[in-house]
Amino acid sequence: MAHKTIEELDLIAKKELEKIQGKELTNKDRMAIPQMEMPSREPKERSRQMSEVALGYTEAQAVVEASRCLQCKNMPCIAGCPVGVKIPQFIAKIAEKDFKGAVDTIKETSLLPAICGRVCPQEKQCQGQCTVGKVFKSAEKAVSIGRLERFVADWERENNKVTMPEIAKKTGKKVAVIGAGPAGLTVAADCARAGHQVTVFEAFHKAGGVMMYGIPEFRLPKAIVQNEIDNLKKMGVEFDFNFLVGRTNTLDQLLEEKNFDAAFVGTGAGLPKFMKIPGENLIGVFSANEYLTRANLMKGYDKEHAATPIYDAKHVVVCGAGNVAMDAARMAFRLGAEEVDIVYRRTRAEMPARLEEIAHAEEEGVNFRFLENPVEVLGNEEGKVCGVKVLSYELGEPDASGRRSPVPIPGSEHEIPCDAMIVALGNGSNPLLVKTTPGLNQDSKGHISVDEKQLTSKAKVWAGGDIVLGAATVILAMGEGRKAASAINEYLAK
Ligand code: FAD
Ligand code: SF4
Ligand code: SF4
Repeated sequence: MAHKTIEELDLIAKKELEKIQGKELTNKDRMAIPQMEMPSREPKERSRQMSEVALGYTEAQAVVEASRCLQCKNMPCIAGCPVGVKIPQFIAKIAEKDFKGAVDTIKETSLLPAICGRVCPQEKQCQGQCTVGKVFKSAEKAVSIGRLERFVADWERENNKVTMPEIAKKTGKKVAVIGAGPAGLTVAADCARAGHQVTVFEAFHKAGGVMMYGIPEFRLPKAIVQNEIDNLKKMGVEFDFNFLVGRTNTLDQLLEEKNFDAAFVGTGAGLPKFMKIPGENLIGVFSANEYLTRANLMKGYDKEHAATPIYDAKHVVVCGAGNVAMDAARMAFRLGAEEVDIVYRRTRAEMPARLEEIAHAEEEGVNFRFLENPVEVLGNEEGKVCGVKVLSYELGEPDASGRRSPVPIPGSEHEIPCDAMIVALGNGSNPLLVKTTPGLNQDSKGHISVDEKQLTSKAKVWAGGDIVLGAATVILAMGEGRKAASAINEYLAK
């Protein structure tokens, strides 16, 4: 399909708008309105640039897309949203061009709509339950809830309409938040609103967690994340950066010596998993986390100025087929690679990444090599990667996950020449906090154990986000943060 510019898409929307404006729409009329395409930058041009790929709906597109909503009485979409955003209500406001009313409705339950509208796996959540998608038998044809959410959040920010939340009278109580990812930032916001003094302790020199160091700029502009952090600062939240809880101070020291009345642990799942194959310690092998952090947070692509410039590689092999693998592969082009292969031991049908992410990677030139898996990383005399030895696979019977299991074909080893390999096979929890905090329990997977209100086994300590759930999503981390903050506020009010 030929790439359409934002101007062309806006014109299409304006013509649709003329047809429906002022008309009492029936459900049949609404179903006949074409879904509005997300404007994006031209694939060839964007694949070498860091700026955001998706450009966001124009006003006409947003109003037309909102008019596709059937305003279902049973509201199945709300059940699909982990924080229960009032979806039909905010969409109805967009259809009436009350954009401020729409964003205020979303903010009753979700604190980060500009972010969630961009990165939520909507097709599995809210849009996965949408009646329109069900009628068309495709979640992709559902009302574009995420794009509408992003539109109103961007509209509010770009038009300086952001209103700061009311803050209750100071309570004199102190809350320590450990980790400045979406879980921690949400707790910080909700506890600050309740009048408590909140300090966020963060190991890195910047707040935002994976939203800042993992998810690339071309999917989530860092200025948007920074804007949310600046708002927290305006609310009086303090940040203590380069502070690794468990080393700089232990959690017990924060509670006992620094007199915090409550603590929230939102330290995420930042410990990369490796393949445990020969050659993985060669120069030029990266975990996706390290690769993306060097690019996003350390600005490693700025080869002249960066303290830790990124390793030059023309041909990059990425192992894995999830969203993180797509991010790493697309980032490789932006860091100067001319050829990027994704190696996956199953087939396209089993890929866990979002369809939109796979499509974007493909449009930008990423090559998918299915039914192959690395068995060894090959190095040259300087100890640098010069290739990957892979084994071919075929699909066997479905495994416990329901996906057909990959079966290696004996004697099928062959080599892919390359000069860097990125391992994107998921992340586990960093054990530092549990190891250095007596009484803080974890489950068999290394996740901190919590009760239904996010309270841990240790008094005065709550936890949430990836450190509890394992690698999950921004909105789930935010949802757990809200639950924990409500419990902390309840406890501190006693
Ligand atoms: P994190 O975001 O991991 O934040 C934890 C913070 O705690 C970090 O800043 C860390 O430095 C800090 N920290 C850790 N230990 C300590 C310590 N001891 N002391 C002080 N600070 C500490 N989700 C989506 O919904 N959509 C996406 O498109 C998406 N894409 C992703 C792409 C990538 C590359 C990755 C890695 C993840 C992606 N995710 C995505 C997942 C999502 O980002 C996470 O689920 C979410 O950020 C978890 O939030 P969190 O607050 O629990 O932890
Ligand atoms: Fe959908 Fe995420 Fe918004 Fe909920 S927060 S409505 S899941 S985009
Ligand atoms: Fe609108 Fe879809 Fe929700 Fe129905 S399920 S109210 S059509 S968004």
